Amino acid sequence: MISMPERVTLVEVSPRDGLQGQSHILSVDQRVALISMLAGSGLTRIEAGSFVSPERIPPMRNTAEVIGRLPDKEGVRYSALTPNQRGLDQALAAGVKEIAIFTGASETFTRKNIGCSIDESLARFQPIAEQALAHGILIRGYLSCTMGCPYEGDIALDTVVGLTRDLYQLGCYEVSLGDTIGVGNPQRVQTLIAKLLQILPQEAIAVHFHDTYGQALANIYGALQCGVTVVDSSVAGLGGCPYARGASGNVATEDVLYMLNGLGIETGVDMETLLVANKLLCQNYGFPNHSRAALALQSRLKK
Ligand code: MG
Repeated sequence: MISMPERVTLVEVSPRDGLQGQSHILSVDQRVALISMLAGSGLTRIEAGSFVSPERIPPMRNTAEVIGRLPDKEGVRYSALTPNQRGLDQALAAGVKEIAIFTGASETFTRKNIGCSIDESLARFQPIAEQALAHGILIRGYLSCTMGCPYEGDIALDTVVGLTRDLYQLGCYEVSLGDTIGVGNPQRVQTLIAKLLQILPQEAIAVHFHDTYGQALANIYGALQCGVTVVDSSVAGLGGCPYARGASGNVATEDVLYMLNGLGIETGVDMETLLVANKLLCQNYGFPNHSRAALALQSRLKK
């Protein structure tokens, strides 16, 4: 008998990972309304924005103002992505309790994405991590391309394992394994996690799977079977995939929750409230609805 976790924590990434690549830019009011509703659904971890250059990533401009206006809700932690010292300074000023840093398992992807080698990216994040830890701020690490790279194709598992360990040793309490182009399969997921569990505690591993090839739920299920209890997802599957035009990117929170509910795994998240957030995003704000579960549940409600 395979043992599954009794409880899973969903990390909601729509307000950052979901919105950052969109051409449609939400106002501060709209972002605050979305995040507040997500917090009201029972989600306890929400990536609220990023402290990046507003010229480079316009949808993330005014993240400090957004964070300043979020409801203080017991048990809810808002985080922000901080790519550099300037970002960290802004995050500290905004009073965030958790920051996220990132690198990639592919040399080419990392160069194209952040303009430096993987080693250089880790070296750049070292002083950021030291300061964050000194301020008592939690650090989450993101590792992209863990299942494959849009430029290099296959990525060696040992490379992924080594970099996950590097991020953990840098001070990340948790490393989120990203399947940036959605090419993973449950076997690779389980092989990777089994290797990681030899060197890291189970609590240090989270998964961030994309649904580009329709594999996200299968891959998440595979991770759960290995004991993973932290899963990243995005309401309505918000978050375009820049490597496959028109394809879905982030796995939809509603779809993950539907599966977890079916498996009897506790999350503390209320589907009805998520559906209201889905409507806000898709009907009011005009984003496409990539959640199969939300589409099915909403059409059932109409009858
Ligand atoms: Mg993503």
